[in-house]
Amino acid sequence: MDYKKIILHNGKEHSLLRKHPWVFSGAIKIKDELAEGEAVEVYAADRRFLGIGHYQNSSISVRLVSFEKIELNDEFWFNKINNAYQYRKELNILNPKTNVCRLVFGEGDGLPGLIIDYYNGHVVFQAHSIAMHMNRENIVKALQKTFGAGLKSVYDKSSESLPKNYASGLKNDYLFGKGERVEVIENNCKFLIDWEKGQKTGFFVDQRDNRALLSNYSKNKIVLNTFSYTGGFSVYAALAGAKMVHSVDSSASAIELCKENVALNNINNHEGFAVDTFDFLKDKDGVYDVIVLDPPAFAKSRDVKHNAVKGYIKLNALALKKIKPGGILFTFSCSGVIDKLLFFNSVTAAAIEAGRNVKLLHYMYQPADHPVIPFFPEGEYLKGMVLWVE
Ligand code: SAH
Repeated sequence: MDYKKIILHNGKEHSLLRKHPWVFSGAIKIKDELAEGEAVEVYAADRRFLGIGHYQNSSISVRLVSFEKIELNDEFWFNKINNAYQYRKELNILNPKTNVCRLVFGEGDGLPGLIIDYYNGHVVFQAHSIAMHMNRENIVKALQKTFGAGLKSVYDKSSESLPKNYASGLKNDYLFGKGERVEVIENNCKFLIDWEKGQKTGFFVDQRDNRALLSNYSKNKIVLNTFSYTGGFSVYAALAGAKMVHSVDSSASAIELCKENVALNNINNHEGFAVDTFDFLKDKDGVYDVIVLDPPAFAKSRDVKHNAVKGYIKLNALALKKIKPGGILFTFSCSGVIDKLLFFNSVTAAAIEAGRNVKLLHYMYQPADHPVIPFFPEGEYLKGMVLWVE
């Protein structure tokens, strides 16, 4: 099949030769008349073939899905989805104790603009590019072929993740089958997932390994989980033998969901508080042995980076002031624009401000079902540290 073509300015091919999968609008010298979401071949100024991708009329103009000359047919979609699934199976991410994971993580799985989460046979599809949304039927077909009868539903939750002009009038809905709140297990902890009403795709799968790490520090401890949402960290801490677990989230519906998950796991030593973390912590001197700080992204763009750093310092300084001597702090940032070093420096500044000595026990990252490919460092977003506080 003949696709339309884009030719880059001289020198703009280098990032693509290094397998970075984006073409910015400024790199384009000549292009055919292109519709939103259309497949396009990308060539260097000397007409060397670079890759094939999807066009969008935005600053990222092409997202490449292949660096080889191939056809974007059923076989292409099946291979991509099936490879993503086989990778997770081979790494034992899906196993008898865990039936939830991120199935497709955009560029990390060679599918820029596509997020798919898997909840025990139910799938939540979230397109971040117009092309991925336009290809939703092809993607459903590929999911059906990959999972066979094991696929129970596919829910399209793209109305908030797509450009406004395209998404206006778009409704989140089922593309296949029908589901309702489903119970999943993650390291044998039970959770109810509500992808229709819940935030993002319904569950923060990315904290799985870090929640497991919290288990090692929770036995007989008084644990505070702030920004708790579904109570992921709370359930792990309680099941690992914490003396008491408190969850704090400013959203009352998040606390309700957290309490349901706590009850589902037969946990009795838990309390949930629908309040702001900063207010809650004010008068909690020396109460908690372990504190988890997992705030939403303080910076979503580079312009607000400075404010975000101030936010991380303020939050971490407060928790560090309040934690018991000998306490353990789990602290995270999920802002892509705040890199590891900047986050590390912000937490260091917070420790100085709080006047507490700390020891760094672990660095934490996003898990293997959110793969970072070295050619695309932008894919790295979740980072955290475990600190021992003197
Ligand atoms: N730790 C969670 C994910 C956190 S998402 C998990 O493992 O699943 C971020 C959460 O922070 C949201 O539920 C949001 O309601 C809550 N939130 C945002 N600002 C807050 C604040 N100032 N105080 C408390 N909760 C807040």
